[in-house]
Amino acid sequence: MATNESDGGKEKDVQLARLVLALRSQGVTDAGVLAAIEWAPRELFTPDLFKERAFEDSALPIACGQTISQPFIVGLMTQALQVEPRSRVLEIGTGSGYQTTILSRLSRLVYTVERYRTLMGEAEARFKQLGLTNIITKFGDGGLGWPEQAPFDRILVTAAAPEEPKALLSQLKPSGILVAPVGKRPVQKLIRYLGDGNGVFRSEVMTDVRFVPLLPGVAKEP
Ligand code: SAH
Repeated sequence: MATNESDGGKEKDVQLARLVLALRSQGVTDAGVLAAIEWAPRELFTPDLFKERAFEDSALPIACGQTISQPFIVGLMTQALQVEPRSRVLEIGTGSGYQTTILSRLSRLVYTVERYRTLMGEAEARFKQLGLTNIITKFGDGGLGWPEQAPFDRILVTAAAPEEPKALLSQLKPSGILVAPVGKRPVQKLIRYLGDGNGVFRSEVMTDVRFVPLLPGVAKEP
C-alpha cells in the first residue's frame, strides 16, 4: 500500500503535469522554460496558508503585502526574455525568489534586487536550500538597476514600472532584451524591449498584466 508521503508526491506530480499542460496550451512552449518550471518546487516559495494552492495557475500573497507571480506569467516573461546558458541576467523584484529560481536554471548568473529586507532574507534561504549557487542578491532600490554589474544580457522587471524604465535600459547590452510590466495600477502592459545591436530598443506590447508597483527606495520595516 502506498504511504501518505508517496500519495502526496503523486498528487503533486499530477498537479504539476496539469499546470505545465495549461501553460503549454496558453503559448508557453519553450522546452527549457517548461523544464525549469517542472523542476522548481513552487510550494517552497508559497506561504503555509496557500501551500495546497502552490500548483494552481494563480498569483498568491506572500509576506510584506507582495505576491508570487502566476506561473503562466512567469513562463511567458521568461520565454520572452530568450535567456541563453551564457546570459548574465538582472532581475528587479526578488519577492519569493520563484522567478529568480527559474532564471537561475536557464542562465549563467542572476543578479536580483529586492527592496524588502525580510523577503530578500527568505529568498536567500530558499536559494541555499535548493543549492542554487549562481544567484547574487542585493537589498536595495532596483529601480536604479545595478550599475556596478552592468551591462546585462537580459533584464526582467517583476514589479510595474510607472513608465519606460530608462535607467534599466541604459544598463542593457546593445543587443539585449528587457521585459517589464509598464503602467499604473491596476492594469499594466507587459512590454518587451529588443536591442538592435546599436543601442536602439524596439518595444513590443505583449499583453495586459497586474503587478505590484515598482516603488522608489527601500521599504521601511518594523
Ligand atoms: N518575481 C517575484 C514577484 C514578486 S512581486 C516572485 O516570483 O515571487 C514584486 C516584488 O518587487 C516585490 O517583492 C516588491 O517588494 C519588489 N519591488 C518593488 N519595487 C522595487 C524596487 N524599486 N526595487 C526592488 N524591488 C522592488
